[in-house]
Amino acid sequence: NQTTAEQAEALENSRANPLRAHELHSSNYFQLLNSRRKLPVSLRRQEFLDVYHDSQIILVSGETGSGKTTQIPQFILFDEWASGKKVACTQPRRLATTSVATRTATELDVPLGEEVGYSVRFDKMTSETTRLKYMTDGLLLSEASSDRDFSSYSCVILDEAHERTLNTDLLMALLKMATSRRPSLKVVIMSATLNIDKIRGYFPGAATFEISGKVHPVQIHYLSQSTPRYCYCAIGVVKHIHKMMPEGDILLFLPTSGDIEMVCSILRHHHKDLTVIPLYSALSRARQQEIFKESIFRKCIVATNVAETSITIDGIVYVIDSGLEIRPVYNPRLRMSTVLTSPISKASAKQRAGRAGRTRPGICFRLYTEETHNTCFIPSAPPGILEGELASQILLLKVMGFDSVGTFDFVDPPHPEVYLRGLQDLHSMGYIDDKGTITPNGRVAARLSVHPKWLNAFLEGQKNGCLREMIDLAAIASTQHPIFSRPPPARFVADIAHQRFACPSSDHISQLNALHAYESAMKTENRLRINQWCFDAFLDRRALGEVVRIRDQLVTTLQTMLNNTKEICAPDDVEYDTQIRKTLARSFFYQCAIKNSGGNYYLYKTVHEGQPAGIHPESALCWGNKEWIVYSEFVSSGTPYLQTVTAVDPAWLIDLDFFQDENLPKTVTGDFKQPRVKTSLDKAREKTNKVEED
Ligand code: ADP
Ligand code: MG
Repeated sequence: NQTTAEQAEALENSRANPLRAHELHSSNYFQLLNSRRKLPVSLRRQEFLDVYHDSQIILVSGETGSGKTTQIPQFILFDEWASGKKVACTQPRRLATTSVATRTATELDVPLGEEVGYSVRFDKMTSETTRLKYMTDGLLLSEASSDRDFSSYSCVILDEAHERTLNTDLLMALLKMATSRRPSLKVVIMSATLNIDKIRGYFPGAATFEISGKVHPVQIHYLSQSTPRYCYCAIGVVKHIHKMMPEGDILLFLPTSGDIEMVCSILRHHHKDLTVIPLYSALSRARQQEIFKESIFRKCIVATNVAETSITIDGIVYVIDSGLEIRPVYNPRLRMSTVLTSPISKASAKQRAGRAGRTRPGICFRLYTEETHNTCFIPSAPPGILEGELASQILLLKVMGFDSVGTFDFVDPPHPEVYLRGLQDLHSMGYIDDKGTITPNGRVAARLSVHPKWLNAFLEGQKNGCLREMIDLAAIASTQHPIFSRPPPARFVADIAHQRFACPSSDHISQLNALHAYESAMKTENRLRINQWCFDAFLDRRALGEVVRIRDQLVTTLQTMLNNTKEICAPDDVEYDTQIRKTLARSFFYQCAIKNSGGNYYLYKTVHEGQPAGIHPESALCWGNKEWIVYSEFVSSGTPYLQTVTAVDPAWLIDLDFFQDENLPKTVTGDFKQPRVKTSLDKAREKTNKVEED
């Protein structure tokens, strides 16, 4: 039952909605249909269907804005309708996932969450009737862990494959295997016109379908001298365009949400006749849709690199490119994630400039010199698998039965050191044994909706009577944005406001204090007052809402564990804080640090790697008056910092295998020194021995 474009279009043209037989199409639907039919992809619907019918794996590449993300899933949905199965379309980013799902539901004239839905971690709008599901690549990957054949889907579309995120790479590998087991499964891999040779080589038998959209020439201007003050420079350029240049909207790329908010507020203040719209992932779904609204004034959209390929905004004629982006990079040797504002690649610069020439010739202002572009920018960004932390992905593959992940068929194999670090971490957590085989705990951990490392905290919390607190902390650690908000202009005021939640020996307990205060406010205050309450306390209401959702979901999965818990201590108990700190110590022992007595600049040194680091200034422990701490993150944004730390007693740690002399962390390559941490551990051990002797 293959369909033709003509048949599908006739269905689309009919007065009744073919997806909802009893309902008539709205008038807005026909208006949209008219403009959709003009997209480059729609003009070649039959050709696409021919390729689709003839092949199992199809690679689609085309200019951004040609209609890949919104139209192709619809073509496939119509074609696969009779199969009764779902069509999945993945996106690397949450923001793009919800945005395109909303758009496609409108185009098909169905309520979001019914025939068309989306699913991102901890937030979904789907139902029994959902037949087209936009989802993040991470979510499809976790679905795949319990269904290697993708059996509820007739077709899986991996979108934005050129971004080569770790999750998309893993999905490509899993789908490659699934297609050989399930001949009826179709796989469509879509990408912008960059970085695709590697993918082509990985799927030798696949059909290709290229869409050449109309692109107009874009004039490129460089700075003659580079400047570190890119925000002010950008504001100057916007002003120049707005005053001097013919009509056409502006798209400005900046690296961080902080930069974006600052620039937006300055622009709004100075130009009342300019519609200034921010676009970054922390914004609510409603505010994200504002970029598509009509405006009587010139629009100026200030965005992160989400507007590079995933979201297309029509009407852009001027692009201003700061040449910067935020790239999280994981350093396996130090187990540190680095979040640095770094230069983009040449490929990204080209993409950004291309955004100006969608509807007519445009201009791109690059806030860097031509020399910087030619000499400092790398050709294209390396794939995520070479830059990320792998522990949870390795665990997932092991749960799926791929025991020797080292020989797995990756598009690009991960660096052996990153891979070995991942194995070591899983071993420290007790999720794999000495032979690398997954343990029963490892299996449970892999199924959690939060990072697998939290299972140990749950088990330990159960022993110590603070399981609920550990679940709260896991939820807090899993939100996209921190619950403590520190808007750039009011950072210091925010820090003062946060003092009321501060616990001098533990940032984790400070977080719990804030969450619990929010929850009791929720019980007593009405909805409007809650917003004010959060605002005054400098707490992020959306993040807190997300925490509660994630927590409730975790509580449901951990129900059986919760039923076996005895509440050993209550929140007003003196023991309460101690039990929480002890639980954290015993579950995150591999992330502990000790006062760096020799060092003068960095107050601490991580035990595992012997790496000097400071404590983040937001922490209540930043003065360094505690000897032993465990930390949640080791990050660097220029300076290495331990973040979210809790003071611990070394006596809680000494009996763990990890700290026994013979089991001190083994190094992977042997070319860096063992940490020397024995002294104060030994002291603690002597102390406890003495107590036992007495
Ligand atoms: P591609 O995936 O090839 O980059 P898309 O399918 O995302 O292209 O976009 C096709 C067209 O749909 C573009 O002109 C874009 O502006 C429009 N579009 C996409 N999402 C929305 C939305 N939420 N609101 C209005 N227009 C949208
Ligand atoms: Mg797209």
